[in-house]
Amino acid sequence: MAEPLAPGATIGIMGGGQLGRMLAIAAARLGYRAHVFTPEAGAPASLVAAETTVAAYDDRAALAHFAAGVDVVTFEFENVGLDAFDVVEALVPIRPSRTVLATAQDRILEKSFLNSIGVPTAPWMPIRTPADAEAALAAVGLPAVLKTARFGYDGKGQAVVREEAEIAPALAQLAPPHHPFPTLIAEGFVAFAREVSVIVARDAAGNRAAFDVVENRHVGGILDLSIAPARVDAGTAAAARDAAFAIAEAFALEGLICIEFFVIGPGEVLANEIAPRPHNSGHWTIEACAVSQFEQQVRAISGLPLGDPARHSDALMKNLIGAEIEALPALLATPGLIPHHYGKTAIRAGRKMGHVTRLYPRGELPDEGGIAAAFRPALG
Ligand code: AMP
Repeated sequence: MAEPLAPGATIGIMGGGQLGRMLAIAAARLGYRAHVFTPEAGAPASLVAAETTVAAYDDRAALAHFAAGVDVVTFEFENVGLDAFDVVEALVPIRPSRTVLATAQDRILEKSFLNSIGVPTAPWMPIRTPADAEAALAAVGLPAVLKTARFGYDGKGQAVVREEAEIAPALAQLAPPHHPFPTLIAEGFVAFAREVSVIVARDAAGNRAAFDVVENRHVGGILDLSIAPARVDAGTAAAARDAAFAIAEAFALEGLICIEFFVIGPGEVLANEIAPRPHNSGHWTIEACAVSQFEQQVRAISGLPLGDPARHSDALMKNLIGAEIEALPALLATPGLIPHHYGKTAIRAGRKMGHVTRLYPRGELPDEGGIAAAFRPALG
């Protein structure tokens, strides 16, 4: 982009969840307006945005009206259909690009792309018809994970297969009867030492910046805790960061992406997933870095200089899932804890309601016992 967006310009955000909310707040800090496109009235992002269009993602007239009123578009939710993307892109630039979105939406395209640029993944095979399942699972070996190729998130659309007798029930779970068979992948089950992620930004001129590699713990397929920095050796962190930079370069990325990895040994990482947007595992950057992942995304898509991603503090970030949000008063009353509430009023099991961050001086992250106790007694 030749000229950066001028203050007062409007950033369009497809999707109205908490990522869009924090993106809109970061945009406002830099003098921009946010216009959110979401099917949900009163969505977390629209509560802090200058403008909202409430319409379905396939409402072409609403999409065109939205696009005509904004200066650049980005997305906080990658399951926006490519048809919607095309309607918008005909009128205004979208960053990251269609290729990045399309690749991240489909596990087969994603893993093919990663392998094509030399980024290792778990062994995987596509399953396009039920008859493919047995051979695919034999090829990747048991135990394995079956995943729907599209529209999976937070561990949804996944089933672990430990032995042959579990193949049929797993298929029945992922492919309901009387519906067209959804394309699946079989993936070798990875006995990982840790899960880590890295967030990188790249701008149109090819400048790039990486936040420090963080360690993630999931409960029931949903991120529970991020530990920044990840407790891995320098070679492992470098392997993750280098792979993320290679991915950003191969996409000629304009924007910000998060790559999730399994650590299988010193210096050895397998890429699991590409998120073409700010990510839950980057929320710690809001307090522990001068420039957060959300501000970095705004900078990268607006033609502003990328910010310094250096970590001034170590951090723990705990998600507040479902009823955990009821601990908010106690969290607020605890010195040193920094809670966030996403403005969602209906509490549902598994719903991301907010998160809480705790900072530590660099190099002074607590040990396992201290990590387990970090948010007590406010949070069990
Ligand atoms: P995903 O939706 O692919 O990010 O998977 C969600 C979570 O399920 C991951 O963060 C892992 O904790 C777990 N998982 C996914 N795939 C595998 C695998 N191949 N081996 C072991 N665990 C996995």
